[in-house]
Amino acid sequence: MKKFHFGALLGTILLTLAAPALADEVVVYSARNEQLIKPMFDAYTKETGTKIKFITDKEGALLQRLKAEGENTPADMLITVDAGNLWEAAREGSLRPVQSKVLTANIPAHLRDPGNQWFGLSVRARTIFFNTQKVKPAELSTYEDLGSPKWKGRLCLRTAKKVYNQSLVAMMIAEHGEARAEQVVKSWVANLATDPFPDDTKMLEAIAAGQCDVGIANTYYFGRLVEKKPGLPLGIFWPNQKQNGVHVNVSGAGITKHAKHEKEAIKLLEWLSSDKAQNLFADVNLEYPVNPAVKPDAAVSAWGAFRQNPLNLAKAGELQAAAVKLMDRAGYK
Ligand code: FE
Repeated sequence: MKKFHFGALLGTILLTLAAPALADEVVVYSARNEQLIKPMFDAYTKETGTKIKFITDKEGALLQRLKAEGENTPADMLITVDAGNLWEAAREGSLRPVQSKVLTANIPAHLRDPGNQWFGLSVRARTIFFNTQKVKPAELSTYEDLGSPKWKGRLCLRTAKKVYNQSLVAMMIAEHGEARAEQVVKSWVANLATDPFPDDTKMLEAIAAGQCDVGIANTYYFGRLVEKKPGLPLGIFWPNQKQNGVHVNVSGAGITKHAKHEKEAIKLLEWLSSDKAQNLFADVNLEYPVNPAVKPDAAVSAWGAFRQNPLNLAKAGELQAAAVKLMDRAGYK
């Protein structure tokens, strides 16, 4: 009798210890750094009681890790930047499709995988910046026009090695075909004021310093820079508004193929797309919410409204290899 009771009691204790730990937890691998994700995760845990364990690392390292761990991975969710990286994770078989009416309602179709393996959670616009002392907005029009002779020796670009530019060129291939896209990239290279920069911030600083007059960067780098150094002679321009719109990309997430807490992870993903979480996710990095019902941060709204290119971002992944080869042929380093 005594022995039986003890066993039953022990079983109950083990169950109560084990069951909630299994059910009320989500494990996240994130290429978005801790300061950008922790505030949201804390809010989610406070609201739902679900604990979130996460590690942060560079996107390449996390993709490798997911692949190497295979079915033994503890990760339920991958968060990373750029549709090119999300597409790559799906191609490697590290993600699983998710059918969710909440996600398809909250996230516009061009910002998520047509196969439902990844979903954009914030929008980053890759647009044109100019030196306000040397360029009038009326002189600017399209990405393609940055290759026209009037910008000879006046253009700055970030390195072609960065996935942001690979995605930009991949989307240009999707829009114009390879031959035309190659012409455009060659014309940019011919207009460069100096070698491509290692990052967007250094490029924006070069424009502000007058080393060049125009360039292409993600808006949040501009936001961070002018927050730190107000008064820089830097202007923002929304190109291609009469054509296909501004090149956008996403940071986003997918559920891993071998997720052990699938239901909980999907719940978290749905919450991240909700109006409650969208501001937290976008504002913390001066990005745009993917959910059209949610307004961007006031500082971001002040840059003005623009039309996004509505082409599906899966193209950025599908055409990434072609874009890398094209940039190499065009002499864009
Ligand atoms: Fe970035």
